[in-house]
Amino acid sequence: MQLDQAKQLRELESQLNAEYQAILAKKLNLDLTRGKPSSDQLDLSDALDGILKGNYIAADGTDTRNYGGLDGLPEAKKLGANIMGVEAANVLVGGSSSLTLMFQVALTAHLFGLKDAASAWKHEGDIAFLCPVPGYDRHFTICEQLGIKMINVPMTATGPDMDIVENLIKSDSKIKGIWCVPKYSNPTGVVYSNETVERIAKLGKIASPNFRVFWDNAYAVHDLIDNPPQLASILEATKKHNTEDSVIQFASTSKITQAGAGVAFVAASATNLAGFKKALSACTIGPDKVNQIRHTRFLPDRSALMAHMKKHAELLNPRFSAVLDALAKAFDGTDLGNWEKPVGGYFVSFDTRKNCAKETVRLAAEAGVKLTPAGATFPYGKDPDDRNIRIAPSVPTVPDVVAAMQVFVVCVKLASVRQDLAALG
Ligand code: PLP
Repeated sequence: MQLDQAKQLRELESQLNAEYQAILAKKLNLDLTRGKPSSDQLDLSDALDGILKGNYIAADGTDTRNYGGLDGLPEAKKLGANIMGVEAANVLVGGSSSLTLMFQVALTAHLFGLKDAASAWKHEGDIAFLCPVPGYDRHFTICEQLGIKMINVPMTATGPDMDIVENLIKSDSKIKGIWCVPKYSNPTGVVYSNETVERIAKLGKIASPNFRVFWDNAYAVHDLIDNPPQLASILEATKKHNTEDSVIQFASTSKITQAGAGVAFVAASATNLAGFKKALSACTIGPDKVNQIRHTRFLPDRSALMAHMKKHAELLNPRFSAVLDALAKAFDGTDLGNWEKPVGGYFVSFDTRKNCAKETVRLAAEAGVKLTPAGATFPYGKDPDDRNIRIAPSVPTVPDVVAAMQVFVVCVKLASVRQDLAALG
């Protein structure tokens, strides 16, 4: 029995190896690492250039070329509110990067306190953040930079495992925050369920003082389908539970207009905004309002925004289909991997069998297909099970995504079979 199995596995390995050698001979050079818009997507916003036609004056009479306006133009706040589904009065419009705002808010909370000086995290010693995993590596880098310990929490198909989140928060007063990408999560693509949103809104009741949810809604309007899943409003839920100070929301137009020259937003309670603005005013006289007004003329209301996002979806859809079709064809009904089927966002997240991700990524790299390093989706770059691989299909052409996925599939199979063979000894 054992001998038969070994023979079968060796045959399979040699067949897959022959496929792999044929791929090597092609000397491919493909890249599935970059979670950014393709140049075709960037072209969709070319009308930003020249849109002002010399009219720099905002609706309230502000000359956008001059200093000032720390929290942004009223019409830019409205754009942020349209994206995030919040009140314009609660929005601050920053520079071009929401990641910068996340860093600045975390830094403010840590050093100066969002409420008052006594609320600064620095007074509480070695504080920690909960990190749903797999997650966004740059969130984890912010924690590392600020010396904040990170605690992994598993992601499920409905968001972070909330039983674990609540238990950890109840038992550890050093936990001061949690990272959340609630819609089309990076990288799993899941949308948090209504129940998850509700439970997250209630964390402010059980957490230690000065706990903050970093609600990074980077993919709020980045749907690939008509009638997309609806994310429940965290703002409404926090109002209901009287926990409005516990959640800070972020978004940007990086993947709506221009990734390097968009507009970024933070939405928060009056207390949090006041605390943040106090620190922000020490480092800037005001943001780039010319870019803000260009964006508001380009995307004047919610329907213009959604029509624009549909054009992105048309470009992204065939690329996502190429990934999902390849995975379904190769792995449906097998135990070689698990993945979600996102209907928005920028990523497909694939879990190999335990201890096969690094080897898959290595094999793919040798075959000319670059994948995000295994482990990158975990704090400190360490995936304890060595399973998760993030696939980003937005930049390559559709034929290149198809070609890269053919390689990916062979590499996953080869890594899995070789693991089986090694286990047989
Ligand atoms: N948040 C998430 C979840 C992301 O995936 C990304 C980019 O990939 C960002 C934030 C970066 O946002 P920004 O360009 O606004 O800094």
